[in-house]
Amino acid sequence: ARVPPPQNEPILPYTPGAPERTALQATLQRMASERIEIPVIIGGKHIRTGKTDPVRMPHKHSHVLATLHEADASHVEQAIQNALSVKDEWARIPFTERAAIFLRAAELLATRYRPILNAATMLGQSKTAHQAEIDAACEAIDFLRFNVHFAERLLAEQPLSSPQTWNLMDYRPLDGFVFAVAPFNFTSITLNLATAPAIMGNVVLLKPSSTSAFSSWYIMELLREAGLPDGVINFLPGDGPTIGNPALASPHLGGIHFTGSTPTFQGMWRTVGENIHRYKQYPRLVGETGGKDFIFAHASAADDVDALATAIVRGGFEYQGQKCSAASRVYVPESLWPKLKARVQEFTAELRMGDVTDFRNFMGAVIDEKSFKRVSSYIELAKQGGSEATIITGGDADRSEGWFVKPTVVQLTNPRHRIMQEEIFAPLVGVHVYPDARFEETLRECDQTAAYALTGAVFARDRKAISTAMRELRGTAGNFYINDKPTGAVVGQQPFGGSRNSGTNDKAGSMLNLVRWTSPRTIKENF
Ligand code: GLU
Repeated sequence: ARVPPPQNEPILPYTPGAPERTALQATLQRMASERIEIPVIIGGKHIRTGKTDPVRMPHKHSHVLATLHEADASHVEQAIQNALSVKDEWARIPFTERAAIFLRAAELLATRYRPILNAATMLGQSKTAHQAEIDAACEAIDFLRFNVHFAERLLAEQPLSSPQTWNLMDYRPLDGFVFAVAPFNFTSITLNLATAPAIMGNVVLLKPSSTSAFSSWYIMELLREAGLPDGVINFLPGDGPTIGNPALASPHLGGIHFTGSTPTFQGMWRTVGENIHRYKQYPRLVGETGGKDFIFAHASAADDVDALATAIVRGGFEYQGQKCSAASRVYVPESLWPKLKARVQEFTAELRMGDVTDFRNFMGAVIDEKSFKRVSSYIELAKQGGSEATIITGGDADRSEGWFVKPTVVQLTNPRHRIMQEEIFAPLVGVHVYPDARFEETLRECDQTAAYALTGAVFARDRKAISTAMRELRGTAGNFYINDKPTGAVVGQQPFGGSRNSGTNDKAGSMLNLVRWTSPRTIKENF
């Protein structure tokens, strides 16, 4: 039977008194005090390695949520052997039966696991209830349901046959295993990095981010309950190089499914290059690696400056700016700036920041001390910038209880200022004000400024200006938005990914991504 085409999972509102809010609050309370142990998982076996690290809450770093057991090189070796031992059996299960496991996981996540994954994402990654809901619930559910649907469509894609010959495309999984390396910022991405290859019949080693291992652990629980056979996805928390080096040195590496920083991905690519003679196959390298995403306003956006200000505030500061897609450089014509500046100042003054379990807060803390220090150094740079850099709003940070950084907007006279070029991954937005008459030159400036090309938005009413921007910025973003913020791509609606230093652009949330996890065999038979 064909799987019905999926619909995007509706976002629940969590208004006071709503049942989902009550359930979430109860789960938050329970989880905050449980202090669980998070094991390594190989072939379904939970291993407490004894090499442990405390998992802390970013908005209250004295609070330890869990104890994380870290894997070492010998666990990676075991996981590879284990994955390879179940590989054929997993691939032989008919697609519809494999699919049922992931659809069951989606249904479990839409119901009983919804408060669990949301609460884990809130506590461990400092997301508000809404930010958790659109990630750990809705997008994660969408990835599961849509990927099954895309896989089914892909498998149906067959070559022509003739009365004399029969041609078939046999969609085999890759040789070897897929190494999935996850970021901290989206629970849904962690789930997708591991499950998209598995849906296509591959076995996976998942290295979660240490700073989001709390929610990653519940993903593993969810998949186990949904009936995923042992060993199909193995769970290897721990230090990057400790896990990564043996995984990348294995002759059985079949592919990498990565989301994270550009330097890390480039380092992995280099290691793959050095090992290329050892592999039994050319590994598939799929990576999404960050951005320096723009909002570009044209003077004709004057009739709705509030929409523009909202896009800057939401695109720049939701989840503390820790989205690869976050707006972090803004180009504004002189004619709009006085009004826009006032609105941005008013809006940011209204934002509440603090403990994410208090539902009135719009922002939580940045993920960890390293991130706090990085953004603080850029704020310092802005403060020392003299007439080059003016802080329009924010500029404060407070680390006493949690890693809190005020939403900050800096006006920069130099469009090539480091704050306009470098990925900071925090609530810090650079603004460059340009003379209205220099619209086209500034578009080209925007294109040439950053080495990234992930997302971007243009704000304009004038249709000609929109089409000029679309033309001049054709290479500047893999996800381009017109009169909308550059964040919040929806699975199945805006397939996600960028080029240049932003990644291999294999579009998460589309069939194009699933194509990467198969090694098709073409079969011809003469009658
Ligand atoms: N897909 C997310 C969005 O559109 C961003 C994912 C990421 O940060 O990697 O906002």
